[in-house]
Amino acid sequence: MDFQLTEEQEMIRKMSREFSDEVIAPRAKEMEETGEPPYDIISKMAELGLMGIPFPEEYGGSGGDWVSQLLCTEEISRGDVTLGTLLDVTTGIVCQELYVFGTEEQKRQWMVPLAQGKEIGAFGLTEPNAGSDAGATQTTAVLEGDTWVVNGTKQFISNMGYKNSSLVIITARCPQFKREDGKGVINTFVVPKGTSGFTIGMHWDKMGLSSYPTNELVFQDCRIPRDYLLGRDGRGFAQHLQVLETGRIFIGAIAVGLAQACFDASLAYAKQRYQFGQPIYSFQAVSFKLADMAMNIALARLMYLKAAWIKDEGLPHSLEASYAKLFSSEMAERAASDAVQIHGGYGYMTDYAVSRYYKAAKLLQIIEGTSEIQRYVISHNL
Ligand SMILES: Cc1cc2nc3c(=O)[nH]c(=O)nc-3n(C[C@H](O)[C@H](O)[C@H](O)COP(=O)(O)OP(=O)(O)OC[C@H]3O[C@@H](n4cnc5c(N)ncnc54)[C@H](O)[C@@H]3O)c2cc1C
Repeated sequence: MDFQLTEEQEMIRKMSREFSDEVIAPRAKEMEETGEPPYDIISKMAELGLMGIPFPEEYGGSGGDWVSQLLCTEEISRGDVTLGTLLDVTTGIVCQELYVFGTEEQKRQWMVPLAQGKEIGAFGLTEPNAGSDAGATQTTAVLEGDTWVVNGTKQFISNMGYKNSSLVIITARCPQFKREDGKGVINTFVVPKGTSGFTIGMHWDKMGLSSYPTNELVFQDCRIPRDYLLGRDGRGFAQHLQVLETGRIFIGAIAVGLAQACFDASLAYAKQRYQFGQPIYSFQAVSFKLADMAMNIALARLMYLKAAWIKDEGLPHSLEASYAKLFSSEMAERAASDAVQIHGGYGYMTDYAVSRYYKAAKLLQIIEGTSEIQRYVISHNL
């Protein structure tokens, strides 16, 4: 067993770490306060080739592997979680779905600018009445001649609100084409921004990650060409669940980055904050919190890297992806809570980064399958 990263993986980790420390972290507070997406930072991430590491160069990528992309995601998230989630959705889910299931033409048209980081992609699975039960989709796509007519609403969709978002991949039920149980099959479709009948609805104000847009998407007699179907007819839901497994590894890496930021801030604070004539680090109640944090971060990092490595080997990784997502997101929430506790009253103030980390951590237990759904996936794989 070899735990050594390759030279290239180390290089990507180092570059991402430096970029995160020098460019992202100093801007994170301002991003949260203004709610403005940091377009200049996103452009620099694109220039560094961080948005498409595991994809071949001919499709806009850097020809690297998933381990490298996930290491990069951890480092970027340590600076700010919003940019980690941008990588998760655009690279881990949307680019990958186009790469694995798209036709040559779809890859060239839609994937290349996403992997190059020039455009941003979104995926729309969740609906007002289909959250954890994502297969309960009520959005419909009806084939009329050579056109699909889409109607429905998608809820809480990340990424469509950026000025350079280009498309959303949605799931929709096709009532004309029945499954064995009599229900219409679920297919996935690409809907480019600007398509008539597709509007970006209400913008949700969130408790954290304010510079990361979350919207409702509305489809009203939205007409797209027949060949905007992505992948195999009737397999859309299964396809989407397959790429969501990678999204779960991303959440694992994001959570590790966030927990590492909690740890770094808390260790530094505990060593310089004096009470009772000594640094609070000298109190076991504080230093043991940091010991647990360090140990759990190390464990969670191994979990997401193992899942990424298995993915790079082309082997099934559903269980490992859920382990990584569940363990890391719950670990990050504990780390963020302990980080605020270690900072005392200062930790509750927005001047201190740990207050922002605390709000971000909660989200990771919800998106891409809640903790409860991860336990469901794990128990079904045992
Ligand atoms: C900021 C943000 C960004 C998001 N971005 C996207 C996006 O880009 N694309 C997208 O498609 N979706 C997105 N989502 C949606 C997200 O994936 C869903 O919120 C999540 O899957 C949970 O669905 P729900 O909110 O409807 O909760 P529900 O499914 O209603 O769940 C409510 C509670 O019930 C529990 N529960 C439900 N079913 C079960 C069960 N069978 N067993 C045990 N417990 C259960 C859940 O775990 C949860 O605790 C985003 C959400 C947020 C908050």
